[in-house]
Amino acid sequence: MVGIVVVSHSRLLAEGVAELATQMTQGKANLAIAAGVDDPENPIGTDAIAVMGAIEEVCDQDGVVVLMDLGSALLSTEMALELLDDDTRERVALVSAPIVEGTMAASVAAAAGLPIEAVIAEATSALDVKKEHLGEEVAVEAPQESGTADVSAEALSFQWLVKNPHGIHARPAAAIVGCLAPFSSDVQLEKAGQKVSAKSLNSIAKLGVRCDESIVFYASGHDAEQAVAAFTQLANQHFGEAEQVAKGVQTEPEQPEEAVIANEIDGALAGISVNGGIVTAPAVIFTQEMPAVPGRDFTDADKETAKVREAIAEVKAHLEAQSKLPHGEIFAAHAMMLADPEIAAKVEAEIAEQVIAEQAWFDVMMALAEQYKSAESQYMREREADVYDICRQVMIALTGETPKAITINQPSVLLARDLMPSDVAGLDKSKVVAICLSEGGKTSHSAILARAMGIPAVVKVQGCLEQVNVGDEITVDGFSGLLWFAPSEATKEELASKRHEWLAAQELALQNAQSQAVTQDGIEIHALANIGGPEDVEAALANGAEGVGLFRTEFLFQESDELPTEDEQYAVYKQIAAAFGDKPITIRSLDVGGDKPLAAYPMPEEENPFLGQRGVRLCLKHEELFATQLRAILRAHAEQPNIQLMIPMIANVAEVRAVKALIAKQRTQLGMADTALPVGIMIEVPAAVFNADALAQEVDFFSIGTNDLTQYVMAADRGNTEVAELVNYFEPAVIKAIELTIQSANKAGISVSMCGEMAGDVKATELLLKLGLRKFSASSTLLPTLKQQVRALELVTS
Ligand code: PEP
Ligand code: MG
Repeated sequence: MVGIVVVSHSRLLAEGVAELATQMTQGKANLAIAAGVDDPENPIGTDAIAVMGAIEEVCDQDGVVVLMDLGSALLSTEMALELLDDDTRERVALVSAPIVEGTMAASVAAAAGLPIEAVIAEATSALDVKKEHLGEEVAVEAPQESGTADVSAEALSFQWLVKNPHGIHARPAAAIVGCLAPFSSDVQLEKAGQKVSAKSLNSIAKLGVRCDESIVFYASGHDAEQAVAAFTQLANQHFGEAEQVAKGVQTEPEQPEEAVIANEIDGALAGISVNGGIVTAPAVIFTQEMPAVPGRDFTDADKETAKVREAIAEVKAHLEAQSKLPHGEIFAAHAMMLADPEIAAKVEAEIAEQVIAEQAWFDVMMALAEQYKSAESQYMREREADVYDICRQVMIALTGETPKAITINQPSVLLARDLMPSDVAGLDKSKVVAICLSEGGKTSHSAILARAMGIPAVVKVQGCLEQVNVGDEITVDGFSGLLWFAPSEATKEELASKRHEWLAAQELALQNAQSQAVTQDGIEIHALANIGGPEDVEAALANGAEGVGLFRTEFLFQESDELPTEDEQYAVYKQIAAAFGDKPITIRSLDVGGDKPLAAYPMPEEENPFLGQRGVRLCLKHEELFATQLRAILRAHAEQPNIQLMIPMIANVAEVRAVKALIAKQRTQLGMADTALPVGIMIEVPAAVFNADALAQEVDFFSIGTNDLTQYVMAADRGNTEVAELVNYFEPAVIKAIELTIQSANKAGISVSMCGEMAGDVKATELLLKLGLRKFSASSTLLPTLKQQVRALELVTS
């Protein structure tokens, strides 16, 4: 990244400029200051040695841009250049741009990864916006020939109604430039017929986009679709100002129609990609059906009232339990709706008129739903679905009907608001060819399951349930997170060719699945499988897994209402390990609690289950539960030395030692010699990252669990739709945690792998390889493509 150096006579001034630039780039700019002199009596001045130090601090192969304030700042900088070695000097550019505006523009461009020429150009034209505003003359760039600069002719486009209270001012503009930096396509932003480069902070600022003005984003090039998807996602977050917009919206009138359909791209709805693939099929919409009102006679008012009260209480208790799970706030709100005394009063008034309980409940709730449906505010209209859902649940309790399972008769795209993991697990893969949810998150367990089953999936596609009808032919592009419902002929052709490419690539990947993945420059990678039980073994082997990097044993425990015995567990562990010959099998000890309750071992409710007794914490508190599993693993390992044990949710050394003591105790009780069972830990709690050096002295391996690591580093629940954008393993803080973990493992000479969802995401492969990761564990359906991706990469020269 191009480095930025600010040279000023005043340290306070330079620090202020640096603070602004850091804020604009969210800390991404590589910036140093050389300001003031070391004289407490007279601190104003510049120092060539300090300038040289600052340049050296931020200089890499991309070069450095230096901005200076007055007079001698330039002289000191020129002297500093003379002191630098030739190699460094050649990479330094001094610019005459004003120190505040110039540093902002240069920092944003540099943080976006633009080359030094572009950074200089941005800094140099930094005053243009201000000049234009004040009516001063601005040097006009020669207009580019039509057809070369204007990309809109054959570009993908996306229209957006800006709701940012202050329009697209510097910070949102910086967010746009940063978001588009990774894409090589030509990108432009248009307002009222005026088009500018969407990679230039100054140009975007010059457009002067205000609140309630419409902009169009155009992208043209090989990664145009991804650029549009990235821009769409950013726009949906109001370019980093969602909070300000939300505050503004409360006091504003109803949003105009455009805002409702704002996530449309030329006949598509945009969401978050969960699993790649392109599929066209008719839509089925999954909603639980409303049980019919039974044709029975009225008993008496007391009995009918008691019946309805009982049903409400039953559903309310269930909702309150669900409110502790991911998406809990929805269930908590439903439980509150159920407690509404007005509803109860209306139902009881109907019953007093000799209406049976089921009919009374249904009538009152449908009338309420109708009121919501015709509300003026869109937010209130959307609540109709909630009322319907609550009504249905109480109707099920009243009639004793069993809720329907998802049954689909022909290959279809399944649309739903959200799915529980059990819904996804029960899907027939030959019938559900893609999943599209209006809610959900990238690392929710239903998303993980969709990926594991190899089903193309997109989540958070707002509006999909309203805009698509059952039977509509729709196309899901799981790569770009797009749901097409009315593609143009040209787009159809493009999607068809993309699908063709995808299928051909899959075919090729599968053909090469059994050979090891080696990068172009000879770096060998190990690809292991994440499995949930013996039923996953065949697919893992067929997809070329070089072992198991994560065996989630909790699925064994969640299958029935009774805990699996030591013998049952032993048999399963041994069977799986035997199937893999001498390839390593990593058995993760029980990881329940948090979002994974255990019916066979109910636990008291916790205020914050994700921060409570999860994983190893629960196991150490419930020794018998843990000991049974450890004994089964020790016995299986005695016969299958390819087994290794992995402990989840470790935060500190004491926990590791407690686990090891328990293993030793069980080994003694079993009368076993030291069988040298390798013991490793998951790194998924931020404390484990900070303790990684010490932990590495205690264990045989690390495996990075990016699903939990991301949620804990970002303090964002991995199953909560409202914070789905934060649950992003590309966030610099998460990347830093991964880097530190790999460094600690390498320093200690222990093995390190990754088994969170990031490991199977080919968009992350290059980055992870560059961070030093060599072992990847992912859903087995992802392994062939992952290996192909590795084979295409060259690390040394890239
Ligand atoms: C993780 O947290 O990254 C992980 C692999 O574990 P799980 O998703 O089962 O919590
Ligand atoms: Mg985890």
